[in-house]
Amino acid sequence: MLQFEKARRLILDSVKLLPPITLPLLETLNMIAAETVSARWNLPSFDNSAMDGYAVRTHECKLSGELVVTGSVMAGESYSAGSPACSAIRIMTGAPIPPGFDAVIPFEELLSETESRITVPAAVKKGQHIRFAGEDIGAGEPVVREGALIRPAEISTLAASGVTALSVFRRARVAILSTGDELVEPGDSLPEGKIINSNAHALAAAIMEAGGEPTMLGIAADSMESLKEKICEGLRYDVLVTTAGVSAGERDLVRDVLDWAGVTPLFWKIAIKPGGPTAFGLKGNIPVFSLPGNPVSSMLTFEEFARPALLRMMGHSLVLRPHFKGILAEDINKQEGKTSIIRMKVQRDGDLFRLKSAGNQQTGLQRTLLNADAVGILPAEKTAFRKGEAIDFHFLNDLSMLM
Ligand code: AMP
Ligand code: MG
Repeated sequence: MLQFEKARRLILDSVKLLPPITLPLLETLNMIAAETVSARWNLPSFDNSAMDGYAVRTHECKLSGELVVTGSVMAGESYSAGSPACSAIRIMTGAPIPPGFDAVIPFEELLSETESRITVPAAVKKGQHIRFAGEDIGAGEPVVREGALIRPAEISTLAASGVTALSVFRRARVAILSTGDELVEPGDSLPEGKIINSNAHALAAAIMEAGGEPTMLGIAADSMESLKEKICEGLRYDVLVTTAGVSAGERDLVRDVLDWAGVTPLFWKIAIKPGGPTAFGLKGNIPVFSLPGNPVSSMLTFEEFARPALLRMMGHSLVLRPHFKGILAEDINKQEGKTSIIRMKVQRDGDLFRLKSAGNQQTGLQRTLLNADAVGILPAEKTAFRKGEAIDFHFLNDLSMLM
């Protein structure tokens, strides 16, 4: 059977980069640059003071320890008045260095100060406390390269360079289709024998968290007509994610309808638990994920297989959450031949992570996922994991790491 890593590799190797789109700068946060942007001007664009103090000419400081204060310049102003020999100009942080001046002496380094005169220390170095034009980033130097993640730091430097819009790889538009005669949409009542279509909401939230744009297509009944209509609609998006109807039940028709719709299957099963009946196919460039119906299985298979694919399509090079080693606080036994995805509670113990099961690992139990911060990934070939042993895990949410 297809192993966990191999399945993920197949998926990641088959998805294509989405086309770039130009967006207002702030909307590109957490997206990936699709262009290299160079600085239009020097940063900073003029020589300016790094301190509040006095602008001086170093050769005059050597001639005389005492200088006459002949003017002042605040941030946002520029100084154009002349300045006689042996003078100093009061200057604030960020204000342009007056022409001919070559150092700044901070207030706290003055030996004395009156309104009209200052006494300067013996050692004043040329260029001290001046931020020179272009010393941060020179005009024409790349500020952001294609492929860079746009963080607040990139937004800052781009904004400082006069950039108001940026080309980034587009957000993936993802259609979510829930299938099953037993489903009803969330509402006030729950008719006997029905269950609420919670998967669509779970997946929409996970898609948004990954930076994609979900559309819930609603519920397809377990009939060819209903599935055909909804799957055709779903194939108008960048990605289609369906849930349920892919196991071996007699009403599990998703596979037939995907065939009918021209989706080429890459696989129909993965050697994992939970989430074994997870299928993946392609219609042209459109990836189709057929996830299990069980809420825990659909969330975990989205996390391990669909999320990295969406990130890859949106231009990310780092598509997996960081994996860490954690020490098991208890023994865990598992079946041979399948990778186990274990919902875990993480406890920080100095530099160590200690992991314990977040509860009963039956796939039907959502409570265990509510209790979990992370999942442990237990390799297929091994069956027994002992207390004290280190295993691979990753958090389920970036903010859960701030423990
Ligand atoms: P199936 O894969 O169709 O056998 O469904 C497996 C289990 O998942 C069944 O208990 C379904 O009722 C449940 N299930 C299927 N679809 C959803 C959904 N959209 N939201 C919540 N549970 C679901
Ligand atoms: Mg079903």
